[in-house]
Amino acid sequence: MSRLLRYLLTVAVIVLTGCTAIAPSQDNRPVVVVGLYPFQWAAQSVGGDDVVVVSLTQPGADPHDAELSATQVKQLANADLVVFLPGMQAATDKAIVNTVPKRLLNVADVVQLSALPGTKQVGAVGDPSSGLDPHVWLDPARMVAIVSALSQELAQVDPAHAAGYSSRAATVIADLQRLDTEYATGLAQCEIVTFVPSHAAFGYLAQRYGLIQVPISGLAPDIEPSPARLANVRRIAQETSVNTIFFETLSSPALAETLADDLGLLTSVLDPIEGITDASAASDYLGVMRANLQALREANNCR
Ligand SMILES: [Zn+2]
Repeated sequence: MSRLLRYLLTVAVIVLTGCTAIAPSQDNRPVVVVGLYPFQWAAQSVGGDDVVVVSLTQPGADPHDAELSATQVKQLANADLVVFLPGMQAATDKAIVNTVPKRLLNVADVVQLSALPGTKQVGAVGDPSSGLDPHVWLDPARMVAIVSALSQELAQVDPAHAAGYSSRAATVIADLQRLDTEYATGLAQCEIVTFVPSHAAFGYLAQRYGLIQVPISGLAPDIEPSPARLANVRRIAQETSVNTIFFETLSSPALAETLADDLGLLTSVLDPIEGITDASAASDYLGVMRANLQALREANNCR
């Protein structure tokens, strides 16, 4: 065999084994299935290279109305751990009941969900899914509890790597606690406490830091608010001296822009972090959370 041929064969073997190591189905690492980006970030941060994380939502897609393919339902059934947030994706709620995953981390068992906390009720949202607010990840303190539970679950699924899960979780929790402190300090003294986001994603955040959201749409972003609701939002925005109407990265800014135009107000981005795209203000959860804090501080004249 020529030296060149031997070299090429060696390279081929390295490439092939390299590929095998990456394909989730062909290695022994636990597969963690998550519904949307913030839990993908949490699972990857805690799991590191010891786990394979599969997200049911494609980057840039709105997780609220995501449908599941047959492959994804199979992924749910075969996962070693499913991180599940009830009330976020009807298709996943249904699939969880039907597939009975091997191991389920139900986020609602870790942090208590409530009905629109931190929110000024501005009339019917025409939203059939309205009930418990699923947007818990926008509250860093609740994320601490979720990351801690995730670390414990992974240690059960894969005890050999428990030390790694635990130490990475400690790092993530320290990051989240720092973020919580930045929010608490940054929003402690604001001239305006009301803010107008595009959909009702920021209730837990508002409640945690003493703000009040007046959302244009309800818990799901794609349901058009009624004219009466829009009139209410407009009235409250004027009464509370709001100067900014927020839109978000994954859905159309049209309603927010029209409202801002009508009222002569500014627009800015407040990102519910339901997915990360090139349009996101940063490349990960912590970065976008910090961009959101900056946007809120500017809009609400915080010192
Ligand atoms: Zn949402």
